[in-house]
Amino acid sequence: MMIRDPFTRIVLVALSAAVFAFGSLAQAKPDVKAPPPKQQTKMIQDIEKSMPPVVLVTKVDSKGLKQWDKTPARNCPACKGSKLEKCQHCAVHEKPEKCPECKLKNGRKAPCHYCAGKGRLFDELEWAVCPGCNGHSLFICYLCGNKGGISITGGSKKPQKCSSCKGEAGMPCKVCNGKRLVQSAFRGKVGQVKLAQLKQTKADVEKLISALQTFQCKGQPRTDRKEFAALFKDVYREFPSLKKAVALSEDVNKGLDAPYKDIEKQQSEAYKRFVRYILYYLVHQEKVIDLCIARLEANEKVKEGK
Ligand SMILES: [Zn+2]
Ligand SMILES: [Zn+2]
Ligand SMILES: [Zn+2]
Ligand SMILES: [Zn+2]
Ligand SMILES: [Zn+2]
Repeated sequence: MMIRDPFTRIVLVALSAAVFAFGSLAQAKPDVKAPPPKQQTKMIQDIEKSMPPVVLVTKVDSKGLKQWDKTPARNCPACKGSKLEKCQHCAVHEKPEKCPECKLKNGRKAPCHYCAGKGRLFDELEWAVCPGCNGHSLFICYLCGNKGGISITGGSKKPQKCSSCKGEAGMPCKVCNGKRLVQSAFRGKVGQVKLAQLKQTKADVEKLISALQTFQCKGQPRTDRKEFAALFKDVYREFPSLKKAVALSEDVNKGLDAPYKDIEKQQSEAYKRFVRYILYYLVHQEKVIDLCIARLEANEKVKEGK
């Protein structure tokens, strides 16, 4: 049991995604709650359901103000501490012959992408699951279907090395450099950030969340890249890893800018996946921001003597 003193430690939980059972923390009463989530689209609801609840902990200082405290260690509810999951990279294409993520080992099991293969959840004030790879450490190659080679119609029978992934059957994630996690927004300075700035960031995040859901890939690579990147201009300051995620999406799209059959479909699938990965990251970061706002608002009331 990590929570030693129930009178001075308060657990903040974003309750909207409480689909995972999570043992000891259920006994601690959350006293500062994030606002109930707004009406969400099906896409966002699905993402919330797939995400373990965000848990942050405060302790009350001598002035009665809530200060951030160390998050209690907890087992990852997705892999139950086993560190492994069924390789989702393999699952996208039927039994690929090559998989840089699971390397076809352990019965096609790969590091769990919720906890970055650690088996325990990380401190969410510090870290977030990578928006470029959703914790998989690489991005699926849509050109060769993760085979590393492709057969060209009318060409030689022998498959050619895939020009998109260079035969690697997947693109290493340049956002997290394979670490699966990136730094959370306001990392290291979350205690100093003012309420107004948090609220502005939340508004920017919500705007991007809704814009991403309506993004349509047109199959015109240059235009698609430009229009996709334009959605992000307000958020790079607080979320520098999104800049890298957009750069990765551009690399992937350039790799698919080729006169192959059905290439528009592959381009569109790749964007859909980027949208899903980035939304997962944004939904998570918004939950963290909500709890930061809730803490500051509770402290303001204490200061006003209410
Ligand atoms: Zn896990
Ligand atoms: Zn695999
Ligand atoms: Zn994976
Ligand atoms: Zn490839
Ligand atoms: Zn990554």
